Amino acid sequence: MSAKRIAVLPGDGIGREVIPQALRVMEAVGALVQFTEFDWGADRYLADGVTVPPDGFAMLDREFDAIFVGAFGDPRVVTNVHAKEILLGMRFKMDLYANVRPVRLLDSSLCPMKGIEPKDIDFVVLRENTEGVYTDAGGVFKQGTEDEIAIQEDINTYKGVARIIRYAFEYAERNPRLDGGPRKSVLLSDKSNAMTHAGGLWQRVFQEISRGYPQIAPKHMYVDALCMQIVRDPRQFDVIVTNNMFGDIITDLAAGLQGGLGMAASGNIHPGRTSMFEPVHGSAPPIAGKNVANPFGAILTAAMMLRHLGLSVEAGRIEAAVLEAVRQKKTTQDIGGPLGTREAGEWVVARVQRI
Ligand code: ATP
Repeated sequence: MSAKRIAVLPGDGIGREVIPQALRVMEAVGALVQFTEFDWGADRYLADGVTVPPDGFAMLDREFDAIFVGAFGDPRVVTNVHAKEILLGMRFKMDLYANVRPVRLLDSSLCPMKGIEPKDIDFVVLRENTEGVYTDAGGVFKQGTEDEIAIQEDINTYKGVARIIRYAFEYAERNPRLDGGPRKSVLLSDKSNAMTHAGGLWQRVFQEISRGYPQIAPKHMYVDALCMQIVRDPRQFDVIVTNNMFGDIITDLAAGLQGGLGMAASGNIHPGRTSMFEPVHGSAPPIAGKNVANPFGAILTAAMMLRHLGLSVEAGRIEAAVLEAVRQKKTTQDIGGPLGTREAGEWVVARVQRI
């Protein structure tokens, strides 16, 4: 097998601290990968005005097997234009329509809820990643006056809705639970009682596609009720499919059950094409440059990427090493340990070499 080619974009803020740790871990575990680093981000934008070089996305698609991203966002770029063009550009222009965000509890100590064990939290949120309210469609009229009108459109297409729902059922079929048991349900979450036009489309397509998967129970929950249920009883969830904005919000809430944003991993996937992997957290300017950011979200994201590329053995070893770090409290302070970003990364590097 030839080495998998990985484009690395650490980006801004804590992305530049956590990504190097994840790269070291992938090297230490002996994964057959080859990294090419790109400097897209705030510094580059401030220096030469470039967010994405010409041909940038096509080049990533053509020349790499996967893309590994840190985070974008910097207080010096008030408009956040570079983050929008790079991150949303990758999702939209490379058509990475499935944002896959697994919600897993590695150790009971990480969960703020009482009496919850790792086996109780093992679900995945599949967020539609190319439409919804994040397409920036809309506009402002009479800005700055008392008559100002701001319109933010919510785009939902049959094609876009159908492919993420189909992805959810396929995911449920192909990805057993961590205990080896099958995934039994796919739950659609929306706000179809208030947002009737888009909700109606999602509901109809969900019913239509679910008929092709008789062994998987189709379920539905309004997104407000879902938020309550996630913190009341997370055991009931298996696969959740939802739109772009609700998926964004639900997964921050769910990250709270996993030990916070520093622990959550994600993939931006278009089956069969070059896909992109990034920790759920952002660039976190308040803690950037202080060696306090938790690198485990990025390291678990690296494991997710390796598994996607067929390197499951290496992925499993990385996950086992992170689990051991959590159990032994060899972690950063956000999850109760005494270590810095680099030191927590170093611990996992040493551990994967011994597993
Ligand atoms: P974005 O909109 O880009 O997702 P955000 O503004 O929602 O970003 P983050 O940048 O993800 O938020 O971070 C919010 C806060 O969460 C941070 O200020 C920090 O306190 C905490 N946080 C996020 N990631 C980490 C991490 N890896 N380690 C420790 N704390 C983190």
